[in-house]
Amino acid sequence: MADRYPRLPPSGIKVLVVGAGFAGLAAAIECDRKGHSVTLLEKVDDIDEITAIGDIISFDPNGSKAFERWPGVVDAMEAIARQTKWLDLYHHEGKFVTRQSFAHETAWGRRINGHRGHLHRIMYDHAVARGIDIRLGLRVEDYFETDNPPQAGVVLSTGERLGADVVIAAEGVRSRGRKIVLGFDENPKSSGYAVYRAWYPAELIINNPVLRHLVADGDTHQGFIGPDIHFLASSIKNGTEVNWVFTHIDDGNIEESWQFPGKPEEALTYLPGWCPVVRELVKATPPGRLIDHKLVYRDPLPTFISPLARIALIGDSAHPFLPTSIQGASQSIEDGVVLAACLELSGRADVPRALRAFEKLRYGRVHRAQAQGPKTRERWHKADWAKVWANPELIHLPREPWLLNFDAEGDAYERYDEVVDVSKGEDKSKL
Ligand SMILES: Cc1cc2nc3c(=O)[nH]c(=O)nc-3n(C[C@H](O)[C@H](O)[C@H](O)COP(=O)(O)OP(=O)(O)OC[C@H]3O[C@@H](n4cnc5c(N)ncnc54)[C@H](O)[C@@H]3O)c2cc1C
Repeated sequence: MADRYPRLPPSGIKVLVVGAGFAGLAAAIECDRKGHSVTLLEKVDDIDEITAIGDIISFDPNGSKAFERWPGVVDAMEAIARQTKWLDLYHHEGKFVTRQSFAHETAWGRRINGHRGHLHRIMYDHAVARGIDIRLGLRVEDYFETDNPPQAGVVLSTGERLGADVVIAAEGVRSRGRKIVLGFDENPKSSGYAVYRAWYPAELIINNPVLRHLVADGDTHQGFIGPDIHFLASSIKNGTEVNWVFTHIDDGNIEESWQFPGKPEEALTYLPGWCPVVRELVKATPPGRLIDHKLVYRDPLPTFISPLARIALIGDSAHPFLPTSIQGASQSIEDGVVLAACLELSGRADVPRALRAFEKLRYGRVHRAQAQGPKTRERWHKADWAKVWANPELIHLPREPWLLNFDAEGDAYERYDEVVDVSKGEDKSKL
C-alpha cells in the first residue's frame, strides 16, 4: 500500500527542530516531506498544555497552502474554522460603515480562522501520524555549532547535548537561539499595546437581545473602530462559540503571557461610549475566559542565521508580528516550507548554502509583511472619520496579492538558484 504521507527519498540531512508551535511543527512536517530526518524538541511535558490554550488565530491563503499538501489537514481545519467570507466594520458608537468581502480570495487559497489550540492540535496530530520523532518535556538551554566536524546542536536543561546537520530554532518570542545568531542576548520590547482576548460558548449570549444576531444564524465577523482601539468579534462553529479581542494601551501592569487573566470590569474601563454590542460582549465574558496579553515586538533582526549558517531562527523567534498584520502564523508556516525546500536543493553536502538561501528568500518578504501591522493599526486607530464616511474602503484591511496569493514552496524552487548566486542575491538593505 502506498504511504499515506508521501515523502521524497531520504536526504541524509539530520534536522533538530526546537519548539512545537506552528513554526516548529510546519518545519518538522515539511522536512519530513522532503525526506530529511527530523527530531522535534518541545519543553512542555504534555502537549495539551499548549494545544488547549489560545483563542482566534488566522491563516491566510499563503499559509494554508502548506496545509493542503498534508493529507487530511486542511479539511479538518476548515471544518472547525469560521465560515465567513466578509468582515463587517462599524464605528465604535455602533453605526455600520462597510462590509469588506474576501470572496474573491477563494481563488488564492483557503482562509482558516479558528481556535488556535484546536488548529494546533490538528497539526500536531498530523506530525505524530507521520511518525515524526517528537520529544516532549525537553527544554533547550543553549545552541552550538562547529566547523569541524560540521554540525550544529543544542544543550538541554539536563546538560545533555544533541547534534545534527542543522538546527531550527522555533521557540517563539523568547527564543534562546537568538543569542548565537545575534552574538548577544536581547529581550523583546513592549509594543506599547496589550490585547484583551476572550472565547466562550454562545449560549451565554443567545438570549441577550443586543447580541442574539451575532450567533442566531451561523458564523459572523465584525470589527468596531475607535480612537486607539479596535475591537474584533466573531462567532464560530455555526454560531455556537464566540470570541472577541481588542487592543488597548499597555499601562505596564501585565505580563507577556498567553495565560495572564483579565477582568471584564477592567476591560470595560477602556470602552466608555462604545456601543452596546461591544460592551455587552465584554460583560457576558465568564470568569476565567478573559486573557490580557501584552504585545511585545522586536525590531527586524540583521540576520536569521548563525555565523556558520547551521542554525536558523524561524517564526516568532525571528520575527514577532503585531496581530493587525494578520500574518504572524502564516509567515511562520512559510518559514518552515522554505527552509525544508532549500535543504532539499542544497543536499547534505552544503547545508550552510541552504540556510543562506533561506534567509535571502525570506528576509525581505517577512519584513514587508511585518510592516503592515503598524500601518493597519494606525489606519484604524487614527481614522479620519470625515474621509471614512465619504470613502468607507479606507478602513478595509489591505489584502494584497503579493502577500496572500503566494506559494512559498514554488517561490523557493523558482528562485533558489538565483539567490545562492551571490552576485545576483537580494540586497537586504534595499528591502
Ligand atoms: C500558548 C500560546 C498561545 C497562543 N495563542 C495565540 C492566539 O490565541 N492567537 C494568536 O494570534 N496567536 C497566539 N499565539 C502566538 C502564535 O501561535 C504565534 O505568534 C505564531 O503562530 C508563531 O508561532 P511560533 O511557532 O513561532 O511560536 P509559538 O507559538 O510561541 O511556539 C513556540 C514553541 O516553542 C516552545 N519552546 C519555547 N522555549 C523552548 C525551549 N527552550 N525548549 C523547547 N521548546 C521551547 C514553546 O513551548 C512553544 O510550543 C500563542 C502562542 C502560544 C505559545
